[in-house]
Amino acid sequence: MPELPEVEVVRRGLERGVVGRVIDGVEVYHPRAVRRHAAGPDDFAAALLGRTVTTASRRGKYLWLGLSPQGAEAAGLEAVGAAAAGAGAAGAGESLLGHLGMSGQLLVVPPDSPDQVHLRVRFRFGDGGRELRFVDQRTFGGLAVVSGADLPASIAHIAPDPLAADFDVEHFVDALRRRRTGLKRALLDQTLISGVGNIYADEALWAARLHYARPTETVSRAEAHRLLEAARTVMTAALAAGGTSFDRLYVSTEGVSGLFERSLEVYGREGEQCSRCAAPIRREAFMNRSSYTCPVCQPRPRRARW
Ligand SMILES: [Zn+2]
Repeated sequence: MPELPEVEVVRRGLERGVVGRVIDGVEVYHPRAVRRHAAGPDDFAAALLGRTVTTASRRGKYLWLGLSPQGAEAAGLEAVGAAAAGAGAAGAGESLLGHLGMSGQLLVVPPDSPDQVHLRVRFRFGDGGRELRFVDQRTFGGLAVVSGADLPASIAHIAPDPLAADFDVEHFVDALRRRRTGLKRALLDQTLISGVGNIYADEALWAARLHYARPTETVSRAEAHRLLEAARTVMTAALAAGGTSFDRLYVSTEGVSGLFERSLEVYGREGEQCSRCAAPIRREAFMNRSSYTCPVCQPRPRRARW
């Protein structure tokens, strides 16, 4: 499943590939891909026709494309400028909101390139150039036209992510230590900190030498800072490598896989030696998935919360 670095790679690709362009054709091939658009596939397509993509934004694992006002297609590039000048007017305007789910891909490809097997939605643009295609094998992802261009109302409850400029470190440290849960469970809670999934939670905990079942109320301020710093470091490195393509389904908008998988220290490395202490990495069941730890660097707490 794509996490923050992978989604940010996609956002950057959308910024390069579709911002400033006018949507002039939308085809929905699978209604499940737009199930969060309550008015249905036809309304979804009609709502997007003639609109200019003004921005490409992300919060946590959600992506959204800001849209010029309806009927402003002739204004074209002026709408882009107006949206930029109006940044901060929360709630105004509309966006095309997307979530990649387990296996979603947003590809920006030449119109004559063959359709992907799991192509769900196609967007054509007025300039006749590259199309935007939403491809999703398992259809857990989805797209919808929603209100709000700067921060869609439907995702306003999602906390800023650790790579965001507005991430409040002291607030995170306080909120984490007030929780009564396990440390990894807290890291995966999108209302506390967003964008951290199973892979980068395990990597950050290993880097910070903290066990995932540490009760959050026993975590010191220094440890919380160390963990956050570790999460930022590992996600920044992953972003630089184009993300992690662990299950082969995540790709950039150009269809390129990320290379960070080879830099993972514990995730997916059961039985391999810890690079710090040579102890074999351990895998344990956790929330229907797995947690990977070094039993020496990350000792299990005497009192654990799962
Ligand atoms: Zn170790």
